Amino acid sequence: MPTVLSPPENTDTEAASIGHEFLSGLPATRRNLLGAIRAVGRIAEFAFEPCGGFPGSDKHWRVRCRMCGWIGLRFYSHLRRFRPAMRHPGCVAADIRQKLLAALLADAVEVCPCARSHAVTTEEIAADLDALALLLDHGGGEAAAAAKADDLARQEELLTRLIGHCPAEIARGAAARLLH
Ligand SMILES: [Zn+2]
Ligand SMILES: [Zn+2]
Repeated sequence: MPTVLSPPENTDTEAASIGHEFLSGLPATRRNLLGAIRAVGRIAEFAFEPCGGFPGSDKHWRVRCRMCGWIGLRFYSHLRRFRPAMRHPGCVAADIRQKLLAALLADAVEVCPCARSHAVTTEEIAADLDALALLLDHGGGEAAAAAKADDLARQEELLTRLIGHCPAEIARGAAARLLH
C-alpha cells in the first residue's frame, strides 16, 4: 500500500485562502494558473486526476489513477513524461493498460458539456485569467471588506472554471499551452 500523506502545512496565508483545492502552496498568479491548467490536462491524457491542488512541477502532488483507483503522491515533472507502461507500483497489468487508457479517454471531449461551464478555449481561459487577476489586484481598498465575501466566491468560481474537473480538460490544457 502506498503511503498517503496530507499536503504539507501551508504557511502562505494568501495562497492558502484562495483556491487551495486547485493550487497548493502557490499564489494564484497567471503563470501558476496556466501551469496548473496544463498539468491537469496533461495527467488526464494518462488517466490520472488530481486529488489536491497543483503544487508545481517538483513537489509531491496527490493524484488518483483512473485505471485502478490508487491514490498517492507523484511529482508532475515525472508524471508528465509517464507512458502507460510506467504508472505506479501495483497498477493493473501492463498488457491491458493501452486498451484501458483508450476506454477511459473515450469520454474526453473538446467542448465543455458541464452544467456549470468551464473555460476551454484560449479566449475563454484568457478572459477568466484576466478577470481573476483584476479581482486579486484590488484587495485592501475602502470597499474591499464589503466586497470580500463576493470576491472570494467569484474567485472560487473562476478557479473552478479554469482548473476544475471537466471532460474537456485535455483540450483545455492544450489551449493553455498556447497562452503565456
Ligand atoms: Zn493504477
Ligand atoms: Zn466542463
